[in-house]
Amino acid sequence: MKKISFLFIIILFTFCEANTKRIGDGNFAAITNKKEIKINSAEANKEQILDKNFILGKFNYTESSNFEKLKSIHSSKTIYLNSQAYSAFVKMYNDANKNGIDLKVISGTRSFSEQKVIWERKWEKYETLDPIARAKKILEFSSMPSTSRHHWGTDIDLNNLNNSYFEEGKGKKEYEWLVSNANKYGFYQVYTSKNQGRTGYNLEKWHWSYLPLASKYLDFYNKNVTYKDINGFNGSELAEKTEMIASYVNGISEKAKEYKE
Ligand SMILES: [Zn+2]
Repeated sequence: MKKISFLFIIILFTFCEANTKRIGDGNFAAITNKKEIKINSAEANKEQILDKNFILGKFNYTESSNFEKLKSIHSSKTIYLNSQAYSAFVKMYNDANKNGIDLKVISGTRSFSEQKVIWERKWEKYETLDPIARAKKILEFSSMPSTSRHHWGTDIDLNNLNNSYFEEGKGKKEYEWLVSNANKYGFYQVYTSKNQGRTGYNLEKWHWSYLPLASKYLDFYNKNVTYKDINGFNGSELAEKTEMIASYVNGISEKAKEYKE
């Protein structure tokens, strides 16, 4: 009997000990998890919250914690970009600089209202054309508000807004450097030649997109935006007829379409 009681006490003790340990481990795991959650939420705060207003350009990027004003050595005027895209640009800028290539951002983030000013100025300019031709004329190089990648803070126009600039001399060297190197920093030319069947905007040798973010944003756009969301400017009723989403928003190079992080 005594032996049995002793054995019972030992078993009980072992059980308690094991249980305490288990509770102890559990607490430790809980603390670790909490820490992980904290770290994750801190990172999440830095990430752009994807919602329709953001993707349609209807937000104030100058007040967003995810956006940053470019230093004057990197830009030709007051320009903002998404901070992650900007730091990738700075790396690219520095390496280009070592190779004697000077990169300057001449356009970055544009809001819905800024795009509306550009669009409506051109809308008035081409008033003699019939509605579809009028829209398509503007769409050679400019986006309808709410359909521009410039809303997202991921896209930049570099050095010059004429393809001819990039076809000889200094501009040619800059373009060739970008074609060979920009992808390493996450930047891709999205409006390439249309010879291979790309739809949408004409060739733009100056427009480079930071795909680690922009590819996710395009995905969100395609899942959430419909033609009903494209409104609030002259000629917006033409968005569906001109296939803004299928042909323009998605009219990017094959390489950009296939991009996976
Ligand atoms: Zn552009």
